[in-house]
Amino acid sequence: MLAIAVHGGAGAAPRAPLSPAQQTLYREGLAAALDAGYAVLERGGASLDAVMAAVVQLEDNPLFNAGRGAALTREGAAELDACIMDGARQRAGAVAAVRHVQHPIELARRVMEKSRHVLLVGAGAEEFALEEGLALVPNEYFRTAERVQQLQHSLQGTPGSELVPQGTVGAVACDARGHLAAATSTGGMTAKRHGRVGDSPLVGAGTFARDGACAVSATGHGELFIRSVAAYHVCVSVECRGLSLAAAVHETLRERILPLGGQGGIIAVDASGALVLDFTTGMMFRGARDAAGRYEIAL
Ligand code: ASP
Repeated sequence: MLAIAVHGGAGAAPRAPLSPAQQTLYREGLAAALDAGYAVLERGGASLDAVMAAVVQLEDNPLFNAGRGAALTREGAAELDACIMDGARQRAGAVAAVRHVQHPIELARRVMEKSRHVLLVGAGAEEFALEEGLALVPNEYFRTAERVQQLQHSLQGTPGSELVPQGTVGAVACDARGHLAAATSTGGMTAKRHGRVGDSPLVGAGTFARDGACAVSATGHGELFIRSVAAYHVCVSVECRGLSLAAAVHETLRERILPLGGQGGIIAVDASGALVLDFTTGMMFRGARDAAGRYEIAL
């Protein structure tokens, strides 16, 4: 069954609740991504193209922590991570700590399709982007006034500043042939050290897809998702332990990550097109759409 889900990050509800106008902007951003991805599926396209279309939309939207509007390192720079995975052939491509690639998810896909590698980082990844003719931009392109302010609050230790949703983005999809795909893109954590890599670009941690099992994209405290091999844990629980997708996601979030002190959210789709969107934080920006008529955008 055609199905797609997107997320725009998970975190505690902000101290000052989002205004109705802000909520509308987030909802519109999520709906645009969901619809871009679903349009690909509807015209018979591949899940891989659908998740990429959705994530590119969110990378372009400055509200979300991916591409423009990325969270900043403690020095005030954007360093971006992304990963895409094709469940059909278990191929993956990822990039980490790139500073000039307008759409990191596009570069991740080029790594998957045009290189012999899975993960390229920093200058090497950007050299490859140049060779591939992808759009490169100055680092300032990614920096927004809101992220600069968020960084200042975080460095000053303003209470609660580190807890609001960071806005990492991701998508999972099932296409007409039952092929699954996942994609995740992020600026990482606010005030992270230069060179820090989170879970999002790591296959099996923040992103994973295997046909017949599921496709997963995660958001939350990346270090704990890495240590839990979270996305792979969901898939293997479905595949080898016979858990339902919902039970596998529930267990991963609450029995693996939470006891380590980590919170976050996971979106996932299985081979039947069943979608799960679950989180242990106060909020997760999210959307789901399928061929059975489900259409849901929620904060
Ligand atoms: N998981 C991301 C990271 O640690 C952050 C997030 O999802 O908000 O890089």
